[in-house]
Amino acid sequence: MRLEVEHLSRSFGAVKAVSDVSFGLAAGRMLALIGPNGAGKSTCFQCINGQLRPDAGRVALEGRDITHASVASRARLGMGRTFQIAQVAASLTVRQHMALALAARDPAVWRSVTGRAQREALEQADAWLARFGLAGQAERLCAELPYPELKRVELASALALRPRVLLMDEPTAGMTRADRRALMALVRQEVEASGLAVLFTEHSMDVVFGFADAVLVLVRGRVIASGTPQEVAADPAVRAAYLGTAAETAA
Ligand code: ADP
Ligand code: MG
Repeated sequence: MRLEVEHLSRSFGAVKAVSDVSFGLAAGRMLALIGPNGAGKSTCFQCINGQLRPDAGRVALEGRDITHASVASRARLGMGRTFQIAQVAASLTVRQHMALALAARDPAVWRSVTGRAQREALEQADAWLARFGLAGQAERLCAELPYPELKRVELASALALRPRVLLMDEPTAGMTRADRRALMALVRQEVEASGLAVLFTEHSMDVVFGFADAVLVLVRGRVIASGTPQEVAADPAVRAAYLGTAAETAA
């Protein structure tokens, strides 16, 4: 297993945000974590990526216990996540942002600030942008990009670090159906090309049914069902607790 989560729990005061959550995620798989607002999805993510300490439980990456590892060492060990560019690098051009993301993986790229090395770094950035349908946007400021393109820059930047496991909390929030499917198709392409494993939270059932290999349903901090999207959608407990008509319209 790329990622193993065992008996993970985290409370905030009297609120048991995550309660005894266990699952495994293998290479080349996409796992969707779904559930109503407040179910504990983001808390679960933050316990896995190191932003929050779990009260109990264990997280392992490629068999190595990382429960108490820092965010930085998790990243070095192959755990990636998407960041919202709007918050950190809006004043960079798309090409600069991409080049920086690539340099974070390979700082040697920037050791020579002159001539050839820098030119190669920018060429590499342009090749990545082309792969993500962003060739025409290279000179634009991140702050000026339309939202769907910005989400693609965020994805490309996260993948530039070549993670083995990618965590995405609500990657398609606020996107149209066509845009969110285009974004997730790029993720899927990477999963198939490199064996990347992806854990993501998602509210849109068309994305869950279109892209997830497996689904975990979280309600009030607990896993109430898991399986293929079809299995989970047919589960009476899931229908009662959460999916209801949403599953019917997406199926
Ligand atoms: P989801 O992402 O599924 O919407 P969250 O993980 O954000 O759910 O929240 C789960 C529960 O934990 C909610 O009841 C929420 O109010 C609570 N919670 C989340 N983060 C905090 C925090 N930092 N302090 C206090 N309560 C929190
Ligand atoms: Mg959340």
